[in-house]
Amino acid sequence: MRPGGAFSRGRNAGPVSTRKPVSTAVEMSAHKKVIRIEENITLSQMAQRLSLKSTELLMKLLSMGMTGVHINTSLDADTAKILASEFGWEVEDVARSEDQIIAAARGEEKVVREGEAADIVARAPVVTVMGHVDHGKTSLLDKIRKANVAGGEAGGITQHIGAYKVNTSHGMVVFLDTPGHEAFSQMRARGASVTDIVILVVAADDGVMPQTKEAVAHAKAAKVPIIVAVNKIDKPSAEPERVKRELAELGLQAEEWGGDTMFLHVSALSGEGIPALLDAVGLQSEMLELIANPKTAASGTVLEALLDRGRGPVARVLIQDGTLRVGDLVLAGAGFGKVRAMTNEHGKQVHEAGPSTPVEILGLSDVPNAGDQVHVVKDPKKAQEIAEQRKGKMAKSMVPATAKVSLEELSRRISESGQQELRVIIKGDVQGSVEALAEALSKLTCDKARLSIIHAGVGAITEGDVNLAVAARAIIIGFNQRPAGKAASLADENKIEIRAYSIIYNAVDEVRAAMEGLLPPTLQEKVLGHAEVRQLFKVKGQGIAGSFVLDGLVRRGGKARLLREGAVLWEGKMAALRRFKDDAKEVLEGFECGISLDGYSDLKEKDVIEAYEIEEIKQKL
Ligand code: GDP
Repeated sequence: MRPGGAFSRGRNAGPVSTRKPVSTAVEMSAHKKVIRIEENITLSQMAQRLSLKSTELLMKLLSMGMTGVHINTSLDADTAKILASEFGWEVEDVARSEDQIIAAARGEEKVVREGEAADIVARAPVVTVMGHVDHGKTSLLDKIRKANVAGGEAGGITQHIGAYKVNTSHGMVVFLDTPGHEAFSQMRARGASVTDIVILVVAADDGVMPQTKEAVAHAKAAKVPIIVAVNKIDKPSAEPERVKRELAELGLQAEEWGGDTMFLHVSALSGEGIPALLDAVGLQSEMLELIANPKTAASGTVLEALLDRGRGPVARVLIQDGTLRVGDLVLAGAGFGKVRAMTNEHGKQVHEAGPSTPVEILGLSDVPNAGDQVHVVKDPKKAQEIAEQRKGKMAKSMVPATAKVSLEELSRRISESGQQELRVIIKGDVQGSVEALAEALSKLTCDKARLSIIHAGVGAITEGDVNLAVAARAIIIGFNQRPAGKAASLADENKIEIRAYSIIYNAVDEVRAAMEGLLPPTLQEKVLGHAEVRQLFKVKGQGIAGSFVLDGLVRRGGKARLLREGAVLWEGKMAALRRFKDDAKEVLEGFECGISLDGYSDLKEKDVIEAYEIEEIKQKL
């Protein structure tokens, strides 16, 4: 299905798309020659449609100043337009909106189904815990989870799958187990809304702090109701009334003060007040009248996703509507595939997951992002099409704008010639670190050198990455990722440097140092030559080894080691070197000389003195 070849990207997103465009229509009208493409097209596909040779297009691009191109390079619509115009063609971008495609892929053009109202049920609320650092968010989540486990789930251990369900007297409640407003706002930034209720944790001994205010702002912006958990009530220094007062100033009026915000006194340490807090959540949820239809095709949101070495892409998903079943075909961000296995928060295999259920799913082709929508779809071809399209977009957005390989970029590069450029390909284990590293590295551009990220993606370093590096003359940075398969040997053959890091700071530091020409040199030993001891004698009480230089040279004051029958007996400095009666600086191959070693006199005939030096080699990056 994939065109493959040296630039095939495997399952990883890349600037090189192997997607087969759907529309291959070539229209010829009287005067205009038009080709239609969807967002992007590979150079070879374009050549085919223009009835030209790929090399002709390649030459044209190169003559326009674009470097690092290859026949499988994916051209964006803008570049394609410029290129096509050079040959008298016009490009029409016929990208369909993603919503249209999803609707078609779901096979659900019809929105309202007969009898659907009867299928509607109440669903469990989804709760996010927010608040200032150290006010007890994690402790509270832990306490709630543990109390729930004691409540009887077989096995008892809860696995981290991004969320868990808790039974309360008002029914089930789902807790997202990444506390803090960052996760919340990150989701919102991706257009996802998973939270129905926010529990705002405020330490009774500390009161409203900056992040408390932020949390309130986030929840209000998302129009999500807030329940206040006044925590650490067990502390003697607790001042719950102060918390109430300070929050009132932020517009959260306690019920007993005539407002509509529930305040609960809790201790995440002792567990006091937690059942009441859960009841409050249940009550709030009843007021929200949350509903879902378990009979419809499932949809939800990715809470977390990662690439597992053994299991492949793993997505922790919150099902928000419908029911997801093993075997369903799902689309999640840039990933799609049949759900191979599903596990709940207790690590148990499950076959289906209804509304407001967190599950971990296996079987996706690619690692989606947190906040990505998940949909069950019917049409595998369309699902793949959407996934590939998203992958292309993602690759573009992950690579900072400055890294775009376009004609525009090229001309700028040319006008800025003289400046060094370091091109980088980043491969990492999770989306978050790849983004963070790309972001940090892209800021390193300085007067002396520009840094361009030509590709950034999740997954192992593949042969495709190495090929891309060869074409673009880039180095590869692996963040918690190593070369897979033949990638390492291919890189070796092509002298492509692969650097491995597991700490972003270190990667940034070293790249910066390299760009400033300050990368610490590595030390390498270089053997200068060998001399064989032929005769031992003494001059003024000092032992001298009458020697013959076998190869290379020996140097006075230089580093030396003594070898006897191949074994190293001693290492140190050559103290004195003489030719006849005079001191000599160096004695070359084929000459005799007298050598004395610094601090070693137990020499024997046939011993070999090896002279060497330590060379500083500037590291390449
Ligand atoms: P987070 O940063 O909001 O997640 O806060 P943590 O849950 O890490 O808690 C910060 C500190 O407060 C930890 O040392 C907890 O043991 C402590 N802590 C949390 N809740 C309580 C509580 O109810 N009472 C007391 N005394 N200490 C608490």
